Order: sequence, then C-alpha cells, then structure tokens
Amino acid sequence: MRRARVKRPRLIVKTWGVLIVLPAPFREEVAYKIFKKHEKWILKKHEELRIAYEYSRKVKLMHRSRKELRELVEKYVEEAALKILGENPCKINIRKMRTRWASCSIRKTITVNELAKHLPEYLISYLAYHEVCHLVELRHNQEFWSCVEKQFKNYRELEKELLVYEVKLGLHD
Ligand SMILES: [Zn+2]
Repeated sequence: MRRARVKRPRLIVKTWGVLIVLPAPFREEVAYKIFKKHEKWILKKHEELRIAYEYSRKVKLMHRSRKELRELVEKYVEEAALKILGENPCKINIRKMRTRWASCSIRKTITVNELAKHLPEYLISYLAYHEVCHLVELRHNQEFWSCVEKQFKNYRELEKELLVYEVKLGLHD
C-alpha cells in the first residue's frame, strides 16, 4: 500500500505482489476492500506475470543503438499508418519510460520506450501497429482489437511475449 497524490485508487500487480495506491487520507480497510473486490483479476494477473517470469529467464535480449531503434520504429509506423490511415501524419519520439512500451498523443506523436531496442524486430513492428491503431481508437476495446487483428491475428500471443520482455527488463519491478 502506498499513499499518494491520486484522486482515485489504483491497483497495480507487480512481480513481487500487489500495489494499491490510495488517495489520502489513507485507510487500511479501503485497501482490503479493493483487494477483495478485485481478487480474481489480481490472481489472474499475478499468474500471467509468474509465467512471464519463468520465460523471461530463457529469452535473449537484442542490442541495438537508439538510432537503430528509431529507424525500425519509423519504418513500421509508416507502414502501419499508410495501411490504416492512408497517410502518415505520425511523429516519433524515443525516450526511457518506466512502465510501458509506448504511447500516442492526440497530436499523433508516438512515443516508444527506449528499452524496445532490446525487442526482436517482429515485436517492434507489432508495437508500431498497435500504437497506430490507437490513433483510430484510444481505448483497448473491441473496435481497437479488430484494427490490430487485421494485421496481427496472433496479437494475444504477442502481448504475452511483450510481457515476458517487460518482466525481463524490469518494467514490473
Ligand atoms: Zn494499447
């Protein structure tokens, strides 16, 4: 449990346990209630992380420069944008992020975590496509996944593989 300047409670499953972030004033019963309410989901997430942790010891990391990563991201974002949007309005930003692979803004800037330089190329191409789909639909809903599915039918597997690298690179510590 951690007290923080947040408006609403947040629940984060880590490799080492569960973090419940609560707005102050802080009450233990609230944390317990949240835990109970989401217990099933927490256990499911925890199991996914446990499996990812097992695999993370076997996978090898790629070693690219930041420049090489940028070139790959530019190439795959362009391909995805032309396919999905018919044009490429995207700007690319590479920087270190602590908890996620990528994000995109309404200004069509796609920010990719520098740690993605350690991913195999097909996962970088998946990340690029995933983010460009977010320009069509922001949330991870049905419409979003059907955009992803047009290019990556196996996106569920790829998401699991990304999780393995997240654990390996410490994004869940
Ligand atoms: Zn997403």
